[in-house]
Amino acid sequence: MHEFKYKNNRLYCEGVSVETLAKKFGTPLYVYSYATLIGHYNKLKSAFKPIEPLICYSVKANSNLSILKALVSAGSGLDIVSGGELFRAIKAGCPAKRIVYASVGKTDGEIRVSIKRGILSFNVESIAELENINRIAGIFNKVVNISIRINPDVEPKTHKFITTGKLTNKFGIDFDNAHEIIIQRHKFANLNISGLHIHIGSQITEADPYVAAILKVTSFIQKLKERGVGLEYLNIGGGLGIVYDKENPQTAEKFAQKILPLLKKTGLKIIMEPGRFIVGNAGILLTKVLYLKSTPVKKFVVVDAGMNDLVRPALYDAYHQILPTSYIPCPESCEKVDVVGPICESADYFAKGRKLPSVLAGDYLAVMSAGAYGFSMASNYNSRRRAAEVIVKGNKVFLIRKRESFMDLIRDEIVVEL
Ligand code: PLP
Repeated sequence: MHEFKYKNNRLYCEGVSVETLAKKFGTPLYVYSYATLIGHYNKLKSAFKPIEPLICYSVKANSNLSILKALVSAGSGLDIVSGGELFRAIKAGCPAKRIVYASVGKTDGEIRVSIKRGILSFNVESIAELENINRIAGIFNKVVNISIRINPDVEPKTHKFITTGKLTNKFGIDFDNAHEIIIQRHKFANLNISGLHIHIGSQITEADPYVAAILKVTSFIQKLKERGVGLEYLNIGGGLGIVYDKENPQTAEKFAQKILPLLKKTGLKIIMEPGRFIVGNAGILLTKVLYLKSTPVKKFVVVDAGMNDLVRPALYDAYHQILPTSYIPCPESCEKVDVVGPICESADYFAKGRKLPSVLAGDYLAVMSAGAYGFSMASNYNSRRRAAEVIVKGNKVFLIRKRESFMDLIRDEIVVEL
């Protein structure tokens, strides 16, 4: 599943002990495994080989340039949601014809530069946006590909903050409006409605919600066919869940077994936008124990990483496994502790009431499965410098982002006399 394993009681990333990385680069530190990253991309690719989908890795999950470059070199396209992500995609060397762009709030500037670059497709989320892209494409005298993001109104059975395919969510266009748009497509002279897009949520551990959404979209495609409307692409989004705790998500093969027959039936070219599945288990956050603290009712392990480094527990009450970098057995008698960061918020925690082996100040802990929505959601809250990032390939270690400096924190500020 991933390349973070104990060898002789020391936690390794591929061929490198992570404790040596913590000592060399300091903590908090993000550590990624190249083999795990590319391994997950390849798993998806081979599971869906019969239809050869265009896999567009979702940049938002982890947007480090070296991660993007590695995936692009392996053949991946990129799914972007902002001008900043387009900038990164180009810097990472992604061919424009492998870039798809979703977001409910694309600005004129972002649309302009995407058209100039010649991206494969915009995933359009509203009628107003459709009109705007049509207008801007007209200025360039171009016809641009768009896919309509359908909101299929299905329940993905995941956290409400990462549910995106219900009609109460802000994303996509309902079937009736989508039908109306397609029938009236002559009104959009500068758009080629070449496909449909769905993305129903994230950390989805079962195939059923996808099956439900794809069945709905397939019958819509059939309805369009009967009216003489042909499409080229179906983009099924991302959302594949990974193991954080005791989840039992379907493997890429099991997922493919369930949905491949449905996708084949559409006769369309398939695009996928996985983020978490590819990078989630390819990264850990290394942190150092600063203090042990007991109150009359609790024991706390205070570490040097905080919610600014990894916000998922604070934001979604998300579970991350926590392992000591030097293996210590955790007998039944192990004490329950809260693992907390230094930030001035009670939401600043990595684990609550967790049975952990007894650690000491100075020990290192690995917060597992932190590769997706970890660094990419990091902030400077409490004027904390964002962590460094390294990637391991076999026995080699590459620094792929320096730890921020104090100067970085104030670089863009302008001090005025008031
Ligand atoms: N595509 C779109 C449009 C998204 O909004 C997201 C995540 O929010 C993704 C793909 C990637 O999702 P995941 O990381 O769950 O695969």
